[in-house]
Amino acid sequence: MKTLIQHGKWVLLVLILLFPLMPVPEFWITLANYIGLYAIVALGLVLLTGVGGMTSFGQAAFVGLGAYSSAYLCTALGYSPWLGLLAGLVLTMVAAFAIGMITMRLSGHYLPLGTIAWGLSLFFLFGNMEILGKYDGLNGIPAITLAGFKLDSGRSMFALIWVILLLAIIAIQNLLQSRPGRAIRALKGGGVMAEAMGVNTARMKVIIFVIAAMLASISGWLYAHLQRAVNPTPFGLNQGIEYLFMAVVGGAGHVWGALLGSALLTLLKDKLQSILPVLLGANGNFEVIVFGVLLILLLQRARDGVWPYLARWTRRIFAAWLPEDKGIQVKPGAAVLNTRTKPAIDTVILEIDKARKQFGGLVAVNDMQFTVSAGQIVGLIGPNGAGKSTMFNLVTGVLPLSGGAIRFYSEGQLRDIGNLPSREIVKLGIGRSFQHVRLLASMSVLENVAIGAHLRAKGGDVMEVMSSILRRDSKIENSLLAEAQRQLERVGLSHLMQEEAGSLALGQQRILEIARALCCDPTLLLLDEPAAGLRYKEKQELAELLRKLRDEGMSILLVEHDMDFVMNLTDHLVVMEFGTKIAEGLPQEVQQHPAVLEAYLGGID
Ligand code: ADP
Ligand code: MG
Repeated sequence: MKTLIQHGKWVLLVLILLFPLMPVPEFWITLANYIGLYAIVALGLVLLTGVGGMTSFGQAAFVGLGAYSSAYLCTALGYSPWLGLLAGLVLTMVAAFAIGMITMRLSGHYLPLGTIAWGLSLFFLFGNMEILGKYDGLNGIPAITLAGFKLDSGRSMFALIWVILLLAIIAIQNLLQSRPGRAIRALKGGGVMAEAMGVNTARMKVIIFVIAAMLASISGWLYAHLQRAVNPTPFGLNQGIEYLFMAVVGGAGHVWGALLGSALLTLLKDKLQSILPVLLGANGNFEVIVFGVLLILLLQRARDGVWPYLARWTRRIFAAWLPEDKGIQVKPGAAVLNTRTKPAIDTVILEIDKARKQFGGLVAVNDMQFTVSAGQIVGLIGPNGAGKSTMFNLVTGVLPLSGGAIRFYSEGQLRDIGNLPSREIVKLGIGRSFQHVRLLASMSVLENVAIGAHLRAKGGDVMEVMSSILRRDSKIENSLLAEAQRQLERVGLSHLMQEEAGSLALGQQRILEIARALCCDPTLLLLDEPAAGLRYKEKQELAELLRKLRDEGMSILLVEHDMDFVMNLTDHLVVMEFGTKIAEGLPQEVQQHPAVLEAYLGGID
């Protein structure tokens, strides 16, 4: 039993291959085929919506694109279904790329609305084109031939559908556990964190959009050659919504959620369709109503879908037989990543030169001027609303400057970074943390920190995604994880490496963010209110860590509200009020400064 469970994937595969050979009723096979077809589409949605955080109602249109391409080429031009598949994939890729370039730039509710728009347009396109048979569709689609076998029955198609589904699940799982996969997972929550780690979020979004569309297209191809006929109905908005339901009900954050969701919804719908007419004594689409109510109830109780429940539950029951979940491990012998040459101690590395930021009539940062030298901890303090976070956002490229300049030391000289986006700034060597921690709560500490090492490996394109899917990247991957582990050791958090990041105390999460920033191989660390919300002891530990990093040669710019915290820690203090610098110097001098006393005694709560 134990070995059976441990080799679950292979057992599943054998079961799948044996299933159609067993004397099960034809109807079961049909249901299982549909579950498989839907699950392939829902898997794309897991990647796009569950992991990437982008809601799409339009996947059914891509299913149609795959189905119609192959149907048309095979019936009108006599192509083989395999050529039909290839053509469908190419067409889908081009269409999804074009649509993705437009819609993936939309944010908030505009994105789902955009997906509805193109879902509808493709649907009406299928229904209105003469050569696609208008609303009657196309008939007489040939069966797929595989290694001499004609897959002309539901039973023979079963194996093909399910092997493709399993391969797709493994591929997406591999992708998610890699450098581009971590970048995809970091997209959730707006992408500010991802961009700060050097991820090109716009490009990443288009890539996952295209992958999800291609999965849908493959499902459409299988569907067309299973049904041997296509018409526009199954590719409409209704079905698009159902695909999204499947992913959400199953558990959109997890690859197996796609299969679970499509199985649950398909079986439930089938049952309701046969039970409801008997119960209600009338025919009608009652199942849709019951279905809707069940769904609302489910989503109220389990927002992350059914999969997480099922996983926890099976883990508990089979605990004795399951292998211990050790998480992702760093293998020994990882190559050490290259680091940049650091400037000599006391070199000016950051120069804020009359930096200015206006929000309409409000001057949030008013011609600020100060510098940070290598090996120094500089504190930027001021009462609430003084403009500290705005100043911070100017340096990290989150906000554009309204005037003045910001220069940063890179490759032997000060360079203007004033108008660079944040993913370019991190490339030059500024690592940052966030005032409100931004981490992926359900991901391990190690993987969270590894997001910071994003720029330490080359890639970011389609080739890299391909090699992650095929697991060809294990060496680089291991080096990135080893770097994350090294930084965790440096900040003293390596004993928590395999914990879920969300389970850590706030103080530890702040330190996790520092480790993640250190993974960028920074020359300057920028920390936004790192002590806010920490208990006394946590503050002390944090201060100790920052001193240790400084002694190792790190430069730190620290934005802080808490006067006591910066007093014994910083080498130099800059005080802001109403966007303007009111004092700067050694902490002890600044503390005595009349303007500072005024601002703090008058302004602090
Ligand atoms: P601090 O971090 O020192 O508490 P902030 O930099 O957050 O201060 O804010 C400085 C001032 O700028 C505040 O008056 C705030 O209301 C304003 N402000 C900050 N961000 C924006 C924004 N995006 N749009 C308009 N006003 C803003
Ligand atoms: Mg602030």
